[in-house]
Amino acid sequence: MAHQVRILTEYCKGCELCVSACPKGVIEMSDELTAIGVRPARPKPDAACTGCTLCYQVCPDAAIEIWES
Ligand code: SF4
Ligand code: SF4
Repeated sequence: MAHQVRILTEYCKGCELCVSACPKGVIEMSDELTAIGVRPARPKPDAACTGCTLCYQVCPDAAIEIWES
């Protein structure tokens, strides 16, 4: 079963905890700033998310969703 991860940019404060937590290197930080001056996290194109939920668990702002596809 494939999984996908979505970052809810409006809730992300750019702490990078999810980047460190992901064992598959799925998440990176965007180069572009949001309206409040934050570089939000984003999934890398074509990265293979396993649905382990580690990123979801460490995010302090509930800014990550994971679902099966
Ligand atoms: S669910 Fe697991 S594999 Fe997928 S992005 Fe989060 S930490 Fe990485
Ligand atoms: S852990 Fe949450 S708040 Fe921190 S960069 Fe990742 S998505 Fe954003």
